[in-house]
Amino acid sequence: MGKVTKSDDEWRGELPQHVYEVTRRAGTERAFTGQYWDTKTPGTYKCVCCGTELFDSDTKYDSGSGWPSFYEPVSADVVTTQEDNSLNMQRTEVLCATCDAHLGHVFPDGPRPTGLRFCMNSASLELDERES
Ligand code: FE
Repeated sequence: MGKVTKSDDEWRGELPQHVYEVTRRAGTERAFTGQYWDTKTPGTYKCVCCGTELFDSDTKYDSGSGWPSFYEPVSADVVTTQEDNSLNMQRTEVLCATCDAHLGHVFPDGPRPTGLRFCMNSASLELDERES
C-alpha cells in the first residue's frame, strides 16, 4: 500500500476548510456537532483525505463523548499512533497510515474485546454505506 503525499497547499486547496483544519492541522471538532457522532447506519468509514477504509460500523459504539467512537480499526496497519502532549494532556494521536491525516485520539477506556476507544472526528471520515 503506497503512501499518499501531498503538499500543504494541495490539501488546503482540495479539502473543505473544516476538514482541512482537523485532518491537516490536528484540529478537533466540537462534541455532538459532527456528522457521524450518533450515526448507526451500517457501512465502512473511510479516510476523507485518501479513501482508505479505516473503521467498520460493527465496531462503532456509543461512548457518550459526542464523537464517533470505535473499539478497533478494520486492521491494525491502517492507522498509526504517536504521543501527543499538546494542551497539557498526555494523549495518543491516531493518524491515517496512508496519508497521515489526523483522525483523533485513542484512549484505554473502551469496551471489550479491545478495551480501546478510538475517538474520531467526523470531519476526518466519510461513511460508505452498505445495504444491510
Ligand atoms: Fe488517509
